[in-house]
Amino acid sequence: MQKAWIIFVVMLLFACSNKKDFTPVFNVPAEFVPVIDSFEAAAMQRGYNITVNNLIIQYDSTLENSYCANANITASSNDVQKIIALNANIKCWLNSRQLETLIFHEMGHCILGREHDESRLPNGNPKSIMCTGNIALYAPCAYPVNDSCNQYYKRNYYLDELFNASTPVPDWGK
Ligand SMILES: [Zn+2]
Repeated sequence: MQKAWIIFVVMLLFACSNKKDFTPVFNVPAEFVPVIDSFEAAAMQRGYNITVNNLIIQYDSTLENSYCANANITASSNDVQKIIALNANIKCWLNSRQLETLIFHEMGHCILGREHDESRLPNGNPKSIMCTGNIALYAPCAYPVNDSCNQYYKRNYYLDELFNASTPVPDWGK
């Protein structure tokens, strides 16, 4: 019995020292760095001091073709390496806003620890950037004829909601 306890304590010590030894890696290709900068800026504007120092973004050709990207973990703790994989086989975004939405969604998982949220606003729009499969939530027009297809005015709400899921319904969502 005593022996079992000693083994248990040794295992605990190992578990702790492993966590202590963890050194996060930040390795984000230059094309995505502005998105990380805007994530930090958006957090700061809303009163959250977030420095992203634990993130690898990489292309992955083994992702299923129905996924644009995935995050390796849903957690806000900083004790495991966070990795966002982008599908190397498909071109997912048409513009920088769609790219931002895609990366912010994945950072919602691996930086903020948020799960998917498929709920809807009263007007039927997704309640959250954490919904699945929609990177055009606040995108500009794909082929601008006039400005009526421009959804950019919704960005402020979706960013508020990303950092605070209790954000009230915006006027346009009623
Ligand atoms: Zn997701």
